Amino acid sequence: MLPIVQVGDPVLRARAAPVAVADLPALAPLIDEMRETMRAAPGVGLAAPQIGRSLALAVIEDTPQLHSGLTPEQLAARERSAVPFHVLVNPTLTPVGDEIVDAYEGCLSFKSFVMIVRRWRSVRVEAHDEHGAPITIEATGWYARILQHEIDHLNGIVCCDRMDPRTLSTSENHAKFD
Ligand code: ZN
Repeated sequence: MLPIVQVGDPVLRARAAPVAVADLPALAPLIDEMRETMRAAPGVGLAAPQIGRSLALAVIEDTPQLHSGLTPEQLAARERSAVPFHVLVNPTLTPVGDEIVDAYEGCLSFKSFVMIVRRWRSVRVEAHDEHGAPITIEATGWYARILQHEIDHLNGIVCCDRMDPRTLSTSENHAKFD
């Protein structure tokens, strides 16, 4: 597992450099390490700046095992369902519609804290996969939230930039009081 950079490190504030498709084969070991680091954390997404690499590259995966602490009602309220592992290279994001959703989210670079962050309910993402093939993703609900969170990281934005500041809480207190 790679060490995860915490908020305050300038790498999280830099705009990540675009990845040349020709460089992707050489980046395969890094992508494998990012996947294993995300799974071990555990998290539903990890952007390259979070492991100290300023590259426009992120991995995403939301597994049913990560839903074990949530009731079916909570999963439905979050519009959360499993997302298979995939890689985003040089993603761009466009909101779809104008619905917004407020929900608590956390970040592996903002360890032990959660906060309410306002996000688009639906988004479209254009990117390349790890083989350089163009991909288009249409997502709603929690998956759309994950995409916005990870793509923010590639633009030097951290979730606290978008939070409702009065909702900042330790994870422990969130479980206790919310
Ligand atoms: Zn994050």
